[in-house]
Amino acid sequence: MSRTMKAIQITHFGGTEQLKLVEIPRPEPGPGEVLVRLSWAGVNFIDVYMRNGSYVRSSTYQTPLPMTIGMEGSGSVAALGSGVDDVGVGDRVAYCLVRGSYAEYAVVPAWKLVRVPETIPLSVATALMLQGATAHYLTHSAFPLTPGHVCLIHAGAGGVGQLLVRLAKLRGALVIATVSSPEKAAIARSCGADHCILYVQTDFRMEVLRLTDGVGVDVVFDSVGKDTLHRSMRSLKRRGLCILFGASSGQINAIDPLALAEAGSIYFTRPHLADYMVTADEIRGRAVDLFTAYQDSRLSVTIDRELPLGAAAAAHRVLEGRETHGKLLLRVDEAAR
Ligand code: NDP
Repeated sequence: MSRTMKAIQITHFGGTEQLKLVEIPRPEPGPGEVLVRLSWAGVNFIDVYMRNGSYVRSSTYQTPLPMTIGMEGSGSVAALGSGVDDVGVGDRVAYCLVRGSYAEYAVVPAWKLVRVPETIPLSVATALMLQGATAHYLTHSAFPLTPGHVCLIHAGAGGVGQLLVRLAKLRGALVIATVSSPEKAAIARSCGADHCILYVQTDFRMEVLRLTDGVGVDVVFDSVGKDTLHRSMRSLKRRGLCILFGASSGQINAIDPLALAEAGSIYFTRPHLADYMVTADEIRGRAVDLFTAYQDSRLSVTIDRELPLGAAAAAHRVLEGRETHGKLLLRVDEAAR
């Protein structure tokens, strides 16, 4: 094993030009940690927030500089720190919410690792970690959907969006999705969305009210933020729940409490995935649910594209440019497929 490795780092917050391919020392696993030789790094919107400095105020997702980007990966166990006995060298593993996956190796706390069954490609397992777990906690924990619920899902053809639509349908909910193009509407429909609204061209709130006979939806899953939040809140039924879980169009800095009352005494939450992946049992429970649904063909995963590690800047550009339709992966190990 070489003492150095390739990684994508930033030394300053900013645009995609900050993402540099560098050669840095390979990390060593400490007690309770595992060295993972990465095959795939997942690209997620959180990587954009970390790169551009949106998360400088977050203590949950810290962003010290210089920083190797990437919060999700999969590969094989290369070495064990002391006291690790639940995985062995060579095991196929995946994980999320540990910074530094845009690299050939990463050190991961053993309790955050999930073993990947042989029947699941590592690329699929990667998609099911951060984006899958997000769709899982939103539909099972933040608002446990049941048959009869009506939900509104923004960006329904995106990475999280497609999985969210699929899981909401598995939970028996009626799904109204928003997307920016007819092509994306076809994708959201193929995932099971009952209705699709082109929210760039149409006032989605008016359309939601029309589709629900003026009542509104039980829950809004809003990852778009700045462009949608106000109307999302006004698309809810009385005492519904607005879950703002992202800011793909820009961050929201303040909400007037009276706006919650005026929207029908609605509830509002802005969750972090980390608060729904608190213990090894919680992480593995979500992963087992997702892996089982994939193995039983109840859940499918769309890999949008695979790019080499050195193309991280291009990957961020397509994600921010709304060009992806599903999971975006960086191929770290050229032999990985
Ligand atoms: P996506 O694949 O969903 O890509 C983002 C999508 O957002 C775009 O494809 C686009 O869909 C839509 N969008 C709307 N306005 C804009 C805009 N101005 N610029 C760019 N995109 C826009 O990304 P991910 O699946 O990685 O993440 C989706 C969201 O979920 C992100 O906001 C992310 O931060 C959030 N997230 C939150 C978590 C949490 O626990 N809080 C955990 C994981 C993800 P369209 O063209 O159809 O509008």
